[in-house]
Amino acid sequence: PIRVRFAPSPTGPLHIGGVRTALFNYLFAKKHGGTFFLRIEDTDQNRFVPGAEQYIMEALEWLGIAPDETIGKNEKFGPYRQSERKHLYKQYADQLINSGWAYYAFDTQESLDTYRKAEEEQGKTFIYNHTNREKLDTSLVISAEETSHRIANGEHYVIRFKTPVDEILHLKDIIRGHVKFETNLLDDKVLFKSDGMPTYHLANIVDDHLMQTTHVIRGEEWLPSMPLHVLLYHAFGWAAPEFAHLPLILKPVGNGKLSKRDGDKLDFPVFPLEWKTEEGISSGYREKGFFPEAVVNFLALLGWNDGTDKELFSLEELVAAFDLNRVHKAGAKFDPEKNKWFNHQYLVQANDEKLATDFAILLKEKGFSPTLELTTKIVSLIKERANFVSEFWDLSDFFFVAPTAYDEKAKKNWKEETPALMQELISVLEEITDFTSVNIETIVKDWLTKNEIGMGKVMQPFRLSLVGALKGPHLFDIVEIIGKDETISRLQKAIE
Ligand code: GLU
Repeated sequence: PIRVRFAPSPTGPLHIGGVRTALFNYLFAKKHGGTFFLRIEDTDQNRFVPGAEQYIMEALEWLGIAPDETIGKNEKFGPYRQSERKHLYKQYADQLINSGWAYYAFDTQESLDTYRKAEEEQGKTFIYNHTNREKLDTSLVISAEETSHRIANGEHYVIRFKTPVDEILHLKDIIRGHVKFETNLLDDKVLFKSDGMPTYHLANIVDDHLMQTTHVIRGEEWLPSMPLHVLLYHAFGWAAPEFAHLPLILKPVGNGKLSKRDGDKLDFPVFPLEWKTEEGISSGYREKGFFPEAVVNFLALLGWNDGTDKELFSLEELVAAFDLNRVHKAGAKFDPEKNKWFNHQYLVQANDEKLATDFAILLKEKGFSPTLELTTKIVSLIKERANFVSEFWDLSDFFFVAPTAYDEKAKKNWKEETPALMQELISVLEEITDFTSVNIETIVKDWLTKNEIGMGKVMQPFRLSLVGALKGPHLFDIVEIIGKDETISRLQKAIE
């Protein structure tokens, strides 16, 4: 059975790239009837940020892609927080020492700095690997007795992976195909520290093995770690999972990876939920009024498509259509305008009464409490022009308050005869008993035809009087909603 994981480090809010990684894991798992689990990789305590773990869980929940297993949920392979698995890792580090795949290194920061400088002076870059392993302070050089003695004496050490020399690794990535690595270019990564904590690499491999991960789907930034990871599986004698490294998400303009700064610059969130720190607030999709379904939809298309030009997918449709083999190698440009377009599509499709319930909260803040029926009707008239519910007020304020000013350009177009025409219109409206949109429209238009008055002569000032500008939905719908008295009063005020 397929088991995939999302394994973020709780170092801050989940970036949109991380959300996309979670989503692709989710889609892959569901497509194949597998399991999607969330593991918190918090072994690096220096980078731990309080609240980040909670944030990650809440974000996945909001997006509707919550894991099947995680902290507090179906803990089949728990704990799902690496800091709580601390006791597990030492034995695996020891196993590698005993099998000769790893060694102790006692180098101090100062001595490493000295080496680094010396190499730099010769125009070289210092890499901790086979080229200088023997010169450094490691158990490869000193005797086993001395090694044990120094450890027993409480000397600080790290356990490093002994990368094989002169090997070319031919590996397979589902998205990138064949990838080649030369082991001579790799450094001997630290796997374990004397404080008892594993590093990311060791913990990640041990846990993926123990949690029976079948596919590792993660961001491209982890591709350079793939050879080490594959070698580690080999060193342990475990079957490695399959790998798929997802393309980067690129800035909307220019080159490079999308960053939080790009979001700030364009007043656009790169986080699913708002994130508050002492330095300020980073806005989130949720708080900006995005529908989670819209966010999921546009993220799915960042680096993937189904081979057609179909763009709108529900989560179920995504699950059905998703295929890792169709994920692109090239980076995917992040397009804020397109994201708004997606939200617009979901807004238009959304149930009017549901939107009205959301809009009612805003209206209440403005001091209006119309019936749900009326709010629903207004929503149905304006939503085509909106991307977000938060824009509804600006698109419909004239339903609630009479204009206090008129668009100057439009008002200048008023002819000498306009006030008299509006006065006549008032008389026509006063006579109407069935004050509904279609009926009002028929009567007003009959009056225009009978008296051979041009449409524009009446309709434009009529709209301006009611709305204050030449905008808004179908005029007679507005007339019906605000009602006869209010319509007449606004006309009178406009010609005063
Ligand atoms: N903890 C790593 C991260 O923060 C996980 C990388 C992986 O999926 O292997 O992205």
